[in-house]
Formats: sequence, C-alpha cells, structure tokens
Amino acid sequence: MFLQSNTIKRICVFCGSNHGARSAYTDAAQQLGKALVSHEIGLVYGGGSIGLMTVVADAVLEEKGEVVGVIPHALSSKEFAHYGLTELHLVSSMHERKAMMAELSGAFIAMPGGFGTLDEFFEIVTWAQLGLHTKPIGLLNVGGYFDLLMKFVDYMQQERFISTEHRQLIITSHNPEELLSALIRYKPSQQIPKVIDWKET
Ligand code: AMP
Repeated sequence: MFLQSNTIKRICVFCGSNHGARSAYTDAAQQLGKALVSHEIGLVYGGGSIGLMTVVADAVLEEKGEVVGVIPHALSSKEFAHYGLTELHLVSSMHERKAMMAELSGAFIAMPGGFGTLDEFFEIVTWAQLGLHTKPIGLLNVGGYFDLLMKFVDYMQQERFISTEHRQLIITSHNPEELLSALIRYKPSQQIPKVIDWKET
C-alpha cells in the first residue's frame, strides 16, 4: 500500500544530461520514475531525450504516468527534445524554463548530474531560503554520489554561512521510495520569513 500524495501533483526532477559512470544511476532513475507513478505524481523535467533525464521520463511514460517537459528553443535540438511526452513546453530562455518548472511542481528532487543539475538544485534551495516558495526539496543520494557535497553544506553551516533552518531545507535519502515519502510528509518550517515576493524578482 503506497502513501498517496494529497497535495503534490507533480515533482520536478533535476538530473544529468549524461548517464554517469555507474549503472546504479540509471537503475535509480528508473526506480524514481516508477515510484512517482505509484504515488500518482506526475513528472516535470527539462524535456530532453538524453542522459538520466530521459531515463526518468521514459520510466514514468512506461507506467502510463504524466510527464511534462520544459525546454528552451535553443536546446531543443541539442538536447534532442523528447517528443513522446504528455506535454512539452518550448520556452525562450533557461530562466523561463526554471521558473516554469518550479511553477508546475509541488516538490523538487535532484539526482546525480553535473553543473546544470547543481545550478538548478541550488537555485530552488535559494528561492526557498528567500521564502519565494515552501515546497519540499529532496536530494536522491544514489550510491553516496552527493556525500562530499553534503559534507561541504554541513561545513557551510558550521562556518555560519547557512542557518540551521536553511540547512534543513534539503531532505536526503539513498532510496527513491523513502525520499518520496519524506517529501509527501514534509511540513514547511515556520522559521523562514518571506524576504522577497515573486513580483519583486
Ligand atoms: P548537467 O547536470 O550539467 O548534465 O545538466 C543537466 C540539465 O541542466 C540539462 O537539462 C541542461 O539543460 C541544464 N543545464 C546545463 N547547464 C546549465 C546552466 N548553466 N544553467 C542552468 N541549467 C543548465
């Protein structure tokens, strides 16, 4: 019996435009796609047909789930936009892509990836830090891929560049099913004030 999400309709997944060196990354991307469908949660992602991005999308589509892709025109040929999705939005810039992915999603998950994945992930964390949204943010730490990064995040907290409340914005798990359950149960902290509003960005 799976926990159904009453509030999260779609989750945005950030992940690599490569497959990475180990098959564990692809396996986890497939497991995450299946877990989303079993919780009746749709996928929002960057709309490409390469790397781990397409593995998650294809796993959701195989299980007859909903996949919404958002890709800038300029990347649509380079990342070979995925034309088999439930919906594909072609937008004019990377900024518009990020904003639309955030708007369409009730939560976020980053999986192993490179600079693009980390850029997208930390921008979403920064928006939460500013009180622009209160949506849960998860890190799927497949095979310890993010161990060093999280050590550094703890160091940033230790050196007082990150508050305890802001450190707690990042929910981590090695397991897709456990991570989804944690995001579904998540209650936003009351300690994070709204510093700015969307209208001011
Ligand atoms: P990567 O993790 O570098 O493989 O990139 C994963 C995703 O991030 C891809 O969909 C890219 O389009 C996107 N991406 C790559 N570079 C950037 C960037 N500088 N800013 C924002 N997104 C990016």
